[in-house]
Amino acid sequence: MGRRCGFLRLGGCNLSCRWCDTPYTWDWQGISDSGIRYDPKTELHRQSVSSVAEELLALGVDLVVISGGEPLSQQARLLPLIDILRDADVEVEFETNGTRVPDRRLVRHGVRFNVSPKLSHSGDPMERRIVPQALRRFAVTPGTTFKFVCRTTADLDEVAELAAGFGIDDVWIMPEGQSADAIDKHMQELVSSVIDRGWNVTTRLHTLVWGHRRGV
Ligand code: SF4
Repeated sequence: MGRRCGFLRLGGCNLSCRWCDTPYTWDWQGISDSGIRYDPKTELHRQSVSSVAEELLALGVDLVVISGGEPLSQQARLLPLIDILRDADVEVEFETNGTRVPDRRLVRHGVRFNVSPKLSHSGDPMERRIVPQALRRFAVTPGTTFKFVCRTTADLDEVAELAAGFGIDDVWIMPEGQSADAIDKHMQELVSSVIDRGWNVTTRLHTLVWGHRRGV
């Protein structure tokens, strides 16, 4: 967090978390909390791999974060982009909800995974948000970090269960919130218990700095 990087956000997600802060990447069905209907014709556009790579390399960064939506739903099609970035000595990190088994070719490229399994407060059914085969693979994949979005200390019990069940030992807790006030409230509630459990805590720097403002 805080490291200078390029950011590539892809459309489409296989979950539908009720507090998702990027519904414009996947929610084509209805009306969001803010009253905006998201139209895929407006939100998504096709771009060639070479053109995406060119834009990312032009940023002059040594790290690119690929997020979504759920970027691993498109992982095989992303391999040519990863090739170009790694050949240019650019590190690559994926942000994922941990429901897709990572392609071994990505692992061989040395990409990192920031895995954020969703808890029950996301509203997604357990069988969609927790995919044991995928979590077990991530837990033994080098360079993987697990980040859980939490609101209350009861959420931490859920995290402990998942960590024990899937052999997850690098746990980071991020307070949920789409405003500085909400993040602060959840952080104050969680932080002591997180420290007591020997885990790590992080925050939502992008929300604290820019709120809901979207990049280009
Ligand atoms: S997994 Fe991530 S992108 Fe998908 S709905 Fe949940 S918060 Fe949003």
